[in-house]
Amino acid sequence: MSESNKYSLIIVGAGITGLSTAIAYAKNVDVFKNPVLLLEQNSIVGGMVTSFRRKGFLFDTAQIISDPIDLFNYFGINISLKKFQGYYVRIFLVKNGNTKEYRIPCGLDNFRESLVQEFPGEVKAINKFFSYSASMFDELKYLKLEPTIPDLIRILIKCPKTVINSKKTFKEYLKKFGFKDGRLEEIFDVFASFSGMPAGRAIAMMTVGAMNTSLIGSYCPEKGFIRLPLVLKKRSEELGCKVQTNTKVKKILVKNNKATGVMLDDGKILEANNVVTTADTKVAMKELVGLDIMKQVDKKYAEKANEVRMSSSAFIISLGLNSDVNLKEMGFDCGYNVITTEGDTFENFFKEFDRGEYKLDENEFHCAVICPSLTTGGKPVLIIRVVPMPMKNWKILRETDYSEYEIQKQKVADFYIDKVEKYLIPGLSNYIVYTNIATPATFERYIGTPTGSNYDMAPYPDNFGLKRLKTRTPIKGLFQPKFSHGIWPSMQAGLQVVDMLTNGKIMNGYSRYRGEKGT
Ligand SMILES: Cc1cc2nc3c(=O)[nH]c(=O)nc-3n(C[C@H](O)[C@H](O)[C@H](O)COP(=O)(O)OP(=O)(O)OC[C@H]3O[C@@H](n4cnc5c(N)ncnc54)[C@H](O)[C@@H]3O)c2cc1C
Repeated sequence: MSESNKYSLIIVGAGITGLSTAIAYAKNVDVFKNPVLLLEQNSIVGGMVTSFRRKGFLFDTAQIISDPIDLFNYFGINISLKKFQGYYVRIFLVKNGNTKEYRIPCGLDNFRESLVQEFPGEVKAINKFFSYSASMFDELKYLKLEPTIPDLIRILIKCPKTVINSKKTFKEYLKKFGFKDGRLEEIFDVFASFSGMPAGRAIAMMTVGAMNTSLIGSYCPEKGFIRLPLVLKKRSEELGCKVQTNTKVKKILVKNNKATGVMLDDGKILEANNVVTTADTKVAMKELVGLDIMKQVDKKYAEKANEVRMSSSAFIISLGLNSDVNLKEMGFDCGYNVITTEGDTFENFFKEFDRGEYKLDENEFHCAVICPSLTTGGKPVLIIRVVPMPMKNWKILRETDYSEYEIQKQKVADFYIDKVEKYLIPGLSNYIVYTNIATPATFERYIGTPTGSNYDMAPYPDNFGLKRLKTRTPIKGLFQPKFSHGIWPSMQAGLQVVDMLTNGKIMNGYSRYRGEKGT
């Protein structure tokens, strides 16, 4: 087969979406007769989900996998996971130099009860919020990705809450419940931030989904996040898919409005009946396909591809610490810690981001702090993640003035290390023995996304759901399942696209996996 270079399916990119697509395809199509090729530009699969080792320290990029068990079972993979117990997120609200800590316990009921105890005057609103949100989340299983008119009518009947809230941001959605204490909104904000957006911007539907899936169960691979893509790769190969790393796709080839294959960086042409791209959406449509070609096929889709808003990038400080620090004793054995000043801090950061700027302000800061070594068991490490971070001049500095790039990186890192030291880990700087700093330019270089975007298309209400750039492109045989607001959604996206390719074999057109017999 490889001699003729003709494939049934070529997948561009071996991140979580690409690997999930390959496995789902191989489970539903005879890939020995209809071969699949997965092409990855990097030397290792996983894309944004990875781990890296430096000076004996093991660092992860990701922190939490929400509710993956059904999907792992479907894929037929086995991976040793730690399930976070007790609490999985801590929020440290800083006001006038003092810190108030909130713990988000695992389990929906536990979370609801903890809020009832903390805010006894808000019991009615809290209960209403949880029951309404659970019912809205349940409705998602009735949504179809490409609804027909009868489907739309059924959705109107079966999914009233989803329909009513389909244009609302999470902040607008919260108003419905009449919370009086603004701190509640700050706590709920953490679920919007799972997709790198504040509550006033992220669509309610997605945030409610993130809240429910992560509260049902939050997990972390015991041997580092890289285990997940490696296990997915192994499984896809067992099922007969071919995975080729160090192979960059230069062009997606189109003839008579139909995808015919890809051209590699070295000029080699590989033919395929179908192409699934999991590269940055804009890059895929504008550069790999070419906006002119897309315009000839469908002007509106081309315009949308050009205008679609990408999510923000991040600034990540990975710290290797000496063994004098006891992170477990300080409560770091959880998925995520957030330090934020009160009020509209996260939204204000996004206003700066809209202007292409970031600020280092002693009175307004926001970052996440994660400790993967308490799961992997390695030497102590701490990761400080700052979102949003614009590309600004990071890429230019990196390419033209590396020493200035290092100076600027260190300046931002020092600012945040200072905040973590002040509000979370006294004496932190004394423990640091190794520092690695990633900027949006790092993501640009590693993933090939010019904005350094971490979650592809941003989940604004007018950029999401039926409004997002559709998975089935107007070019026959070309698909782009970039629902990449996390690992769980990326795995779902792989199933969704194969469902399209196999006329509903996995989910019968529904957008969410409903179990082997749940179609
Ligand atoms: C720092 C960070 C932390 C995160 N933490 C979490 C978390 O805790 N939990 C969670 O659920 N989600 C998290 N996410 C989000 C999650 O990682 C992503 O949503 C998900 O991994 C997206 O997967 P993907 O396969 O769609 O995209 P990607 O991971 O971007 O994969 C695309 C792949 O395509 C390859 N590629 C691109 N162009 C080409 C080309 N021309 N030729 C060949 N290959 C190409 C890239 O190299 C890449 O490997 C995090 C993201 C980041 C950046």
